[in-house]
Amino acid sequence: MLEIDNLVELQRSYFYSGQTLKYDFRIKQLKELKHMLQKYEKSVYRALKKDLNKSSYEALTTEIGFPHMEIDFTIKHLKEWMKPEKVDTPITHKGSKSLIQKEPYGVTLVIAPWNYPLQLSLAPTIGAIAAGNTVIVKPSEYTSETSAILAKMIKETFSPSFITVVEGDADVSNKLLEQKIDYIFFTGSTPVGKIIMEKASKNLTPVTLELGGKSPVIVDKDANIHLAAKRIVWGKFTNAGQTCVAPDYVLVHEKVKSKLISSMIKQIKVLYGNKPLENNDYVKIVNEKHFNRLKEFLSNGKIISGGRINPEKLLIEPTIFDEVNWEDSIMQDEIFGPLLPILKFSDLHHIVEKLKRMEKPLALYFFGEKEKKQQYVFDNLSFGGGCINDTLYHLANPHLPFGGVGSSGIGAYHGKFSFDTFSHRKSILKQTTKFDIPFRYPGSKLSHSIV
Ligand code: NAD
Repeated sequence: MLEIDNLVELQRSYFYSGQTLKYDFRIKQLKELKHMLQKYEKSVYRALKKDLNKSSYEALTTEIGFPHMEIDFTIKHLKEWMKPEKVDTPITHKGSKSLIQKEPYGVTLVIAPWNYPLQLSLAPTIGAIAAGNTVIVKPSEYTSETSAILAKMIKETFSPSFITVVEGDADVSNKLLEQKIDYIFFTGSTPVGKIIMEKASKNLTPVTLELGGKSPVIVDKDANIHLAAKRIVWGKFTNAGQTCVAPDYVLVHEKVKSKLISSMIKQIKVLYGNKPLENNDYVKIVNEKHFNRLKEFLSNGKIISGGRINPEKLLIEPTIFDEVNWEDSIMQDEIFGPLLPILKFSDLHHIVEKLKRMEKPLALYFFGEKEKKQQYVFDNLSFGGGCINDTLYHLANPHLPFGGVGSSGIGAYHGKFSFDTFSHRKSILKQTTKFDIPFRYPGSKLSHSIV
């Protein structure tokens, strides 16, 4: 493999050749990426099965399907996105025209986490290609099979001067971060996000930080409890809770708490069977470190469903906790596993006031029928994005920006927002030479009257 500094220089020279600026080139590369995914689909399934015990169905819906959708959407709209944007010009600039031209940054770096190792490496890459950049992808070392297949298929499909995968851990990330990169797109934890931003600041490299946090679900007393239970259980236990926008905990109105809990317990059985640990398709915890971290939480509150573990296979049952307090360890940091604490409330206003003072989460979900209350929650709380009466679904709409706010991240992507993220908006004023309005010059009549 090329030394990292040589690799950056190779990509920079390729970027300066101007190849990536052309519309036809970008479309061709996006199509190549799509073919690559089709060709390697089975190998990707095998890798995800080994890394996370993901079933082919879950791998298709949450890993491979997403980049396909993003590529199709981008190919359909790229011409329009690339067009310079004409904007108004004030009367003081008479005779001139103004426009915004979107230009690529140059050499970009995508650092990805392990929880959706394929999707979260490729979705930003699609935006970077669309905007005309070169890309270096650094997948997570925790999902080594997926990282290896990603490196293999990218190497076979693209020249390293345009896209390449650099495998490795934090040391490799740091070597990459020592380089002068033109844009850094990081997905991962909030503490590492801070390190990335600090390193990027040395070269004033712009960043997108897609981070995590504790995403709450609020279930009000007038919610459709059956549907709320179904959608919360699905959103929480997909990928064994290892989803950045998974509901972290549930705040439920005391009047509907027991109904919601019994409905969720039923729903867990529908989705994972009576013995989830024996379900061959149930996703495992990524490694022992995270398994042990999650195991510690089992002493919190009162387990009312699940709680069994299989240390050899790194499996933890979908688990629901009652009688949890805000002070408990499970309520301090993002859980990122199949453990769901339930807390009750009696006054929505108090809950909103409490959440306002906490870190801004990546997602927030509200279940309830009353539009006034939906509006009240969404007007008063700040969070990356979310849903009314659903979980996770907002992230699969390419018309919605996906990203955090405050400690859950900086910037956003998906659909056109990915293209915009990887583009600099260059302002251009095109002046006429047919005449020259004198008032800006010292000594003109108007400038005398202004003074
Ligand atoms: P992580 O921050 O530990 O690692 C992410 C990437 O950074 C990996 O490639 C890793 O090798 C690299 N890295 C780790 N330490 C580093 C360091 N000190 N310096 C430079 N690079 C370093 O995150 P993770 O455990 O892989 O992923 C889980 C976290 O990611 C959760 O907090 C989750 O919420 C978040 N996440 C966010 C999104 C989103 O879209 N906002 C999506 C998925 C995951």
